[in-house]
Parts: sequence; C-alpha cells; structure tokens
Amino acid sequence: MIIVMLGAPGAGKGTQAEMIAAKYQIPHISTGDIFRYNIKNNTDLGKEAKKYMDEGKLVPDELTVRLLLDRVAKDDCRNGYVLDGFPRTIPQAEVLTSELEKNGAKVDYAIDIEVPDENIIRRMSGRRACVNCGATYHIVYAAPKVEGICDKCGSKLVLRDDDKPETVKKRLDVYHEQTQPLIDYYKKAGVLKSVDGTKDLHDVFADIVTILED
Ligand code: AMP
Repeated sequence: MIIVMLGAPGAGKGTQAEMIAAKYQIPHISTGDIFRYNIKNNTDLGKEAKKYMDEGKLVPDELTVRLLLDRVAKDDCRNGYVLDGFPRTIPQAEVLTSELEKNGAKVDYAIDIEVPDENIIRRMSGRRACVNCGATYHIVYAAPKVEGICDKCGSKLVLRDDDKPETVKKRLDVYHEQTQPLIDYYKKAGVLKSVDGTKDLHDVFADIVTILED
C-alpha cells in the first residue's frame, strides 16, 4: 500500500502518517525529517537544503527526488510506505508516478487533510520539535508529558525556525502555489480522498482508516 499525504504544512500530515505507519507496519517517510537529519549531521545535503528551508522555500526538485527514490528503494519499503511531505510539486509527482510504473506499482491513496489557513497559522505557533530526535509536539493538541521536554529522548523542545510566523506565511504561499495543484493531479488519477483536518486527531485518524479499509 503506497500512500501520499497531502495538505498544507501544519495540517497534521506527520502525525497521521506516523499513526498509519504504526497501524499498517509500513515505513513513514518524511522528506522534511530526512533533510533535518542531514542538517543536524552537517552533511553536504543538509547544508544545501538548509538554505531553502530557513526561508520557507522548497528544496530543488532534483535534490529531493534523488533522496526520495533512494529511500523508497530500500528493503523495508517492499510492502508499501506512507509519504509525508513528498511530492510537493507536479514534477516530483510525475517522477514518482513514472518510477512506480516501472515496477507495475502506483500511489494507492492520496489523502488530503483539509485545514483552512487561519487554523494552520494558529496551530503552527504552538508546534514544538525536539532538538535531538526531531519528534514533534503541540502545546495544546499533542503536549509532551513534561512541558518543554521530549517524551521520547528527554531533550529540549523548541519552535523550529520554519514554524516561526513569518516563515509559516511564506510556506503557505508556497503550498498554495506549488503543492495544491497535486490535489487535482491525484483526483485525475482517481486516488484522491479528502478528510476534515480540523477534527480531533483521533477522529481524523478514524476517518483515514475507514478510507483505507473501505
Ligand atoms: P516539512 O517537515 O515536510 O514541513 O518540510 C520542511 C521543509 O523541508 C519544507 O518547507 C521544504 O523546505 C523542505 N522539503 C520537505 N519536503 C520537500 C519536498 N518534497 N520538496 C521540496 N522541499 C521539501
């Protein structure tokens, strides 16, 4: 089962992708996480990606596509995977479609998590990420057990540079311009499913499970 999560930054793609991955025992692949891992480890890829990410821009397609194709070629992806944050442009989606076609595969579900921009801006200012392992929380909707401390590794939680309000506005502009067209792309492919992302995260997950098990 190959699943693509769609939706604006902050719509809850990452949280839902993680829950899907746990339930169906498939890898959760987040290009944003892979970039952040590389930034933390100061790799050449990380240095290149950081220039774009800090400004709320997309990392160039060529770099992102190479990274993603390497990841999905790994053994743990043979039974499927859930993509979170990829594709983000039509050219990325086209490459994914054609690479999958070579193996007789396709995206089975593109799940669009719908959340209005006003909600997104409110949500993102409450988001916190672990400086060490990258786990994400929300001070209202998904609070850590101890304020400011990661449940998973005990490190400090911070507001990511790309979650700061001015960057969020820029990311939303980029989303509407470059990523929203993917909704039409997957609608035409007959695999688009939409869920109301303003609901409680467990209700959103229940809606997604209903779609996947229909
Ligand atoms: P995310 O954690 O998915 O919100 O991604 C954080 C940032 O990483 C984005 O704002 C982009 O700068 C970059 N990024 C992640 N995925 C992609 C992608 N598929 N294409 C281009 N840039 C990406």
